[in-house]
Amino acid sequence: THFGFETVPEAEKAKRVYKVFENVAQKYDVMNDAMSLGIHRLWKDTLLHVMNPQSGAQLLDVAGGTGDISFRFLEYVRSQQERQKRRAVRTMQTPSWQEISNSYSTEDKDVPQESRAVVCDINKEMLRVGKQKYESAGVSAGLSWVVGDAEELPFDDDQFDIYTIAFGIRNVTHIDQALQEALRVLKPGGRFMCLEFSKVTNPVLARLYDAYSFQMIPVLGEVIAGDWKSYQYLVESIRKFPNQEEFKSMIEDAGFYCVQYYNFTGGVVAIHSGFKL
Ligand code: SAM
Repeated sequence: THFGFETVPEAEKAKRVYKVFENVAQKYDVMNDAMSLGIHRLWKDTLLHVMNPQSGAQLLDVAGGTGDISFRFLEYVRSQQERQKRRAVRTMQTPSWQEISNSYSTEDKDVPQESRAVVCDINKEMLRVGKQKYESAGVSAGLSWVVGDAEELPFDDDQFDIYTIAFGIRNVTHIDQALQEALRVLKPGGRFMCLEFSKVTNPVLARLYDAYSFQMIPVLGEVIAGDWKSYQYLVESIRKFPNQEEFKSMIEDAGFYCVQYYNFTGGVVAIHSGFKL
């Protein structure tokens, strides 16, 4: 039952990755919860806390899948805006009628730009499932869905304040190429952030984690999604991905500055961050 990803030629890898996510798209959200015992939600929330985006920030969420990061980003920005408004109201002097009417004026030139998030993924099926989820819940405002390859993004230079890639970069065939593209589409001063499975640093936890991932995840994949091989691929791709320090060097080599990383859950996942100057 070995999937043999280690031995497949590069051109094959992209095709197989496409097939894996096409197969899992419908069950993707359920499986994420089942496999991580819901912890992926905390990791994604943590990414937003580390990011702490300002309102108006424009996000590009690459390998965005069903939109988890983008949706959290918009929620975070909106809750920050609400907090700021409440603070402003608490500290405000009673305004004159003129001020009130000005504040409702549609000719106001200083209206801040709304934050928006672009979910970009190579897989149409993942995007379709995500888009449908948010549209049917009536919470899709501010989100857009774009089919595109991380290695060749369909966007102009210097467009985004933040680039995220969550549990996506290990699926990309040429990581250096994806990093170059991230650098290109970010505005100067923009931030690259990657959330990815990484190397567990604690040896006891490492053994438990290996046992869990190699024995349990394909089984869960079979039971819940009827798809052992796709989930075996996921585990193998995690094991093959460079460790924290190696990945940090790759981001620096691509031309990012102030590159740092943070480990979570003992290194099960890490967030890498860097800036375009
Ligand atoms: N970011 C989402 C999340 O955290 O839930 C989805 C992560 S999912 C594990 C990985 C995604 O990477 C899949 O949707 C897959 O289609 C996408 N992907 C794989 N290779 C890609 C590429 N070269 N360019 C863009 N997306 C890619």
